[in-house]
Amino acid sequence: MKAAIITIGNEILSGMTLDTNAAYLSQELGKIGIEVVLKISVGDRPADIGQAFKQALAGTDIVLCTGGLGPTSDDITKRVAVKFFKAKLKLDKGTLEHIHSRFAKRGIEMPACNRGQAMVPNKTEVLFNPEGTAPGLLFKKAKKILVLMPGVPREMKAIFAGSLKERLTALSKGMDIRVVTLRTTGIAESAVSEKLSGFEKELAKGALAYLPTHLGVDLRLTISGKNLSVIDNKLNDLSEKITGVLGHVIYGKDDQTMEEVVGRLLKEKKLTLTTAESCSGGLIADRITNISGSSDYYLGSAIAYSNILKEKMLGVKSQTLRLHGAVSKETAIEMANGVRGRLGSDLGLAITGIAGPGGGTDKKPVGLIFMAVAGPKGTVVEERRFLGQRRHIKESAAQAALNMLRLYLLK
Ligand code: AMP
Ligand code: MG
Repeated sequence: MKAAIITIGNEILSGMTLDTNAAYLSQELGKIGIEVVLKISVGDRPADIGQAFKQALAGTDIVLCTGGLGPTSDDITKRVAVKFFKAKLKLDKGTLEHIHSRFAKRGIEMPACNRGQAMVPNKTEVLFNPEGTAPGLLFKKAKKILVLMPGVPREMKAIFAGSLKERLTALSKGMDIRVVTLRTTGIAESAVSEKLSGFEKELAKGALAYLPTHLGVDLRLTISGKNLSVIDNKLNDLSEKITGVLGHVIYGKDDQTMEEVVGRLLKEKKLTLTTAESCSGGLIADRITNISGSSDYYLGSAIAYSNILKEKMLGVKSQTLRLHGAVSKETAIEMANGVRGRLGSDLGLAITGIAGPGGGTDKKPVGLIFMAVAGPKGTVVEERRFLGQRRHIKESAAQAALNMLRLYLLK
């Protein structure tokens, strides 16, 4: 089963809006075994939209469109579709009530132009939009379907997840697909590939994809076939093999994040954590507190960016700073011990480094990071070097520090 995605809007062509809708839909369709073979982006021009419908329907079974369903005059997708499918508009009472109630809840009068959003083409199916006023519209032609959805990503996703996904899954039956992502960090893509070279040959083409970012390399395993239990067995077998080879560089699966994994370990072991951040400027604290319930194990952070605060808040010795510098093993260790001791947690995680682009020297280049974990079993310190822009270095450093803590907890 093949699909096309059409994203509509001048803002996408101009680059003002990043086309995240197409990426989301591709990923979601991939998960249910529908292959996206064509993506088209067009502006808000009737002729171009009509042409895109024609081209997309010619080579695929399913066409998903987003954008241009708003109440304003630049939103013309529905009008073009009505003409294209030779349909007529009629008032959909359910949709009108839904729009009315959304405005009523906010205590405002419904503007007249919103009434137009309740006008739907006959011979279409209305897909409920729980997040907004414009419903999705599903057209059928021969055995093909074309769906219009609003451009606002939150609304599009709500319609896709609520009304479309299950339906398209059923449509694509006959071929099932399962995807598992194994998430690694602290190892280069080439090194992962070398380690896996042994059984890469056994795999079908496209079964293993390397998805590197500055935070790590995700390994996406995709298996498809006729029989779901056979697919699942294959996938389990493959995941186990890879985990056996790579071991602890794999920190999680699918959407799991490092902070989630670290949080779970802290909770399991009933340990509390404080952090002392210099170059990462609070990124670690931000990530840890993104997890709901993190207050069970996370006490807080000292963002000790200057030397003065490293001394005052964390008790780093001025002699240490003078002799070894703020970016050094010695300072990282004292930061970790200091935050743990002064703020009273089981574990202290500290990081200090040079995020750049200025401030580097031959001995201490931009990207040099020291991180330390202090805990009941003593204090450990590690040196790492990262490349890239300031933001990348900060994010990489935060990831590495969280990973160091994870490995400490696993020991
Ligand atoms: P529209 O439904 O065309 O009125 O789009 C409403 C808003 O949704 C636009 O202003 C964009 O910010 C956003 N949007 C539209 N299309 C996309 C897309 N393909 N990807 C991400 N955002 C989009
Ligand atoms: Mg638009």
